[in-house]
Amino acid sequence: MTAQPSQLWPVHSKPLVGEALSSWLLRIADGNGLDQRSFKRYLPKAHGTSADLDLIDDEAFFTAIATWSAIPPEHVAALGFARDEGLVFIQKATDHPDWIIPRDRLGTWPEKRHVASQPFCPACFASDVTPYYRKVWRYAFHPICPEHGFLADRCPRCGAPFSYLALGSASWSRYGAHALRHCTACGTPFAKPQHGTFDALEQGAIAIQSALMNGLAAGWMQHGGKSIPIALFLRGLHIVAEALLNPEHGRTMCAWVAAHHPELAYSDFSFLGEGTLERQTSVARAWVLVLAYWLVQDWPKHWIALLQETGIRSPTCLPHQKFLPAWMHSDEIAQLCIRENRRSPEEIASAKKLLAKLRNYPPNNAELTTFMNTGVVPPFKPRTRPISPEVRQAFSRQLQVNPGTAESAQKCEDSLRQCVRELYPTALVDDPLSELLEDMDDTETSLPILKRQQRSLRGKS
Ligand SMILES: [Zn+2]
Ligand SMILES: [Zn+2]
Repeated sequence: MTAQPSQLWPVHSKPLVGEALSSWLLRIADGNGLDQRSFKRYLPKAHGTSADLDLIDDEAFFTAIATWSAIPPEHVAALGFARDEGLVFIQKATDHPDWIIPRDRLGTWPEKRHVASQPFCPACFASDVTPYYRKVWRYAFHPICPEHGFLADRCPRCGAPFSYLALGSASWSRYGAHALRHCTACGTPFAKPQHGTFDALEQGAIAIQSALMNGLAAGWMQHGGKSIPIALFLRGLHIVAEALLNPEHGRTMCAWVAAHHPELAYSDFSFLGEGTLERQTSVARAWVLVLAYWLVQDWPKHWIALLQETGIRSPTCLPHQKFLPAWMHSDEIAQLCIRENRRSPEEIASAKKLLAKLRNYPPNNAELTTFMNTGVVPPFKPRTRPISPEVRQAFSRQLQVNPGTAESAQKCEDSLRQCVRELYPTALVDDPLSELLEDMDDTETSLPILKRQQRSLRGKS
């Protein structure tokens, strides 16, 4: 496309390598002498209400920016996360897609949306000729700057949250291009890089991080001899990472996996915060990344061993087992479901049938469960089997339906005998009612029939 000179922003510098859309737009605003709020008036209204510039997914918005900056629209769109759908995350159903570190954090009235601290590399800022924010720093699987080590979560000096963009009604002066040079809270300039050696955790995490980044570039991951679309691989990895952050079992699971990595100098994981992966610190994300990545190797070998050795039940940490991506489905995982009482309806029906055949009458639920788990058939005791309290209650309620006259009492008894005949055809219907009760089968099928009978008696009276 060719832009008319009049359509261009007076200053329209090009995006830098790997720059985030919001960082580039902020630099353009700065170059044109505008702060973020004033510049916003010159931006087209984006479809949807995302307050986060990098999450905007609107072709008209990209086209307008492209016209004003003389950059191809595709290039503009690729600076944000819109083009990551189908690569990094499956579907952007909410403002917080998987793996993308959110810019807002929920607060309380009167300012509901606060700015969350963004991970950043102070050393990169310090060595940049023009400091700019890298898009990859907001990927939760990218906790490390390959050159300078762990990304900082807050100002290294005073611990103030870092962000260069404001949200909502935040105080604007704290944000802007100057926030990329020094901490806006304590004023300390971001420091020049100090080259040190990477520790084992950094080395482990960085290897995985670059494998995933290569996967993103290719669109595929080579995993266990298979090519897996990167989005599906990342989806599975995210599911396992979430399991490691499970409030109940997460720490046990992390400790178990860490025990297989003595080189990482296991800590007690008390630094793992509450909430989703995307809200954890860079160090916590590096841990979760290393542990989760190891768990998906040779899938599901390590996962099964973890569950067997820790005694944690699979459904509690893989709640969406049915929705696992295809590469994670396996016979072992399916068997795990069966062991944990997730039996198929067919299996239950056939066990019921078999047990009924062995005993001449259908089993109740407790007997069926014992039979399926242990293969033990409950003893067959005709005429002495105790009736369940529920059935007894239903019967006595029925006898009380209309106790007014002798005639209705007779009617009631007749209908009860009819009911018993239905439920238990071999019963001797001339026996006294109380003895009939003893012959009754007390499975769950009796109750609905009794209730129906009771309703119809009520209707007649
Ligand atoms: Zn860096
Ligand atoms: Zn500071």
